[in-house]
Amino acid sequence: MLDTIPLGQPTVGDEELEAIREVFASGWLSGAGPTCQRFESRFAEVAGTAHALATSNCGSALHLGLQVLGAGPGDEVIVGDYTFPATGHSVMWTGATPVFADIRPDIWSADPAAVEAAITPRTVGILAVDVFGQPADYDELRQIADRHGLWLMEDAACSAGASYHGRPAGSLADVATFSFHGRKGITAGEGGALTTDDATLAEHARKLHTYGIAPAISREGSTDLPIPTFDEAGYNYRLSDLAAGVMLAQVDRLPTLLENRRRAARWYEERLAPLERVTAPVALDDREHPWQSYVVTLDPELDRGAIAGYLRQHGVQCNFGTYASHVQPVYGFEGELPISADLFGRHLAIPMHANLTEAQVDRVVETLAAAIAQPRG
Ligand SMILES: *Cc1c(COP(=O)(O)O)cnc(C)c1O
Repeated sequence: MLDTIPLGQPTVGDEELEAIREVFASGWLSGAGPTCQRFESRFAEVAGTAHALATSNCGSALHLGLQVLGAGPGDEVIVGDYTFPATGHSVMWTGATPVFADIRPDIWSADPAAVEAAITPRTVGILAVDVFGQPADYDELRQIADRHGLWLMEDAACSAGASYHGRPAGSLADVATFSFHGRKGITAGEGGALTTDDATLAEHARKLHTYGIAPAISREGSTDLPIPTFDEAGYNYRLSDLAAGVMLAQVDRLPTLLENRRRAARWYEERLAPLERVTAPVALDDREHPWQSYVVTLDPELDRGAIAGYLRQHGVQCNFGTYASHVQPVYGFEGELPISADLFGRHLAIPMHANLTEAQVDRVVETLAAAIAQPRG
């Protein structure tokens, strides 16, 4: 029996354990402490922004970002349709309505023309998604936002280390949000971050992430007794300092992790090229893809369920791509987004992580080829 090749795999080890030991020794384990501060400085460098705020996950960062940008009841926010539904949910949490825009057929992020067509007098902003980490079309989206007086947000959940026209993911919109969930390129199990160049937005998000007051560390070492006042019902959206320690080690690893994923993507591209009825993902020349996932498109006549079953039986983990948001009943969205709906039914994610070997890539592609050659039944 062959070993199973996992779909994804975190890369963690002695460096992360050592980082946790240091946080234990510091005595400050809860969130928004000294280790979070160090991580936030490091991560702002990665994102190329003036400010970074560590959060409990990407969903909380999305919620904070939308709130500080002012989304609320009666507003519409245009959202790239093809994404994990945290994106659409976070708009709902503010009381605003997500209006989904269809996607580019090649890189699956919001089609700028579809975004512009979805604008109404109630639209307040655009929430673009970097699908599987590859940045969306920020030059075009920025022009549309400026033309219509809208703000622009980047769901960069999968994008740590990606770039667009030489600018890092995280710096491509007014506010960006990242995930450090176990399935993302860098991880502390759970976690997230919000990045922005705007000091006022950053400050407001920081206040909301600690129940509506400045985090306790701001009162450390006071010689008097400062007593905060609550004037907004914020949340506990903090990342713990333990997780921030792990994230510091992960940021150190990021260049190597990205290089390994790019190498795996090159192996895949070569080996998939001769295969019929399967299309490899597109990575555009003007942006760096961080390969959070590797997702192939199956021709319409293929039976994805049967292919996935075959792969799993033969020790190759796989999954669908991500979700078409507009068909999820929670949103009550009326309208058809044919490109997103079609790809939701034809995408297949195959193993991608930083520890993938060339032999494993060979086995994945050979198994996929055999699965496709199976008679239908
Ligand atoms: C993973 C993901 C999220 C959610 O991240 P959490 O950290 O689990 O909240 C949001 N958006 C996209 C595009 C994602 O891939």
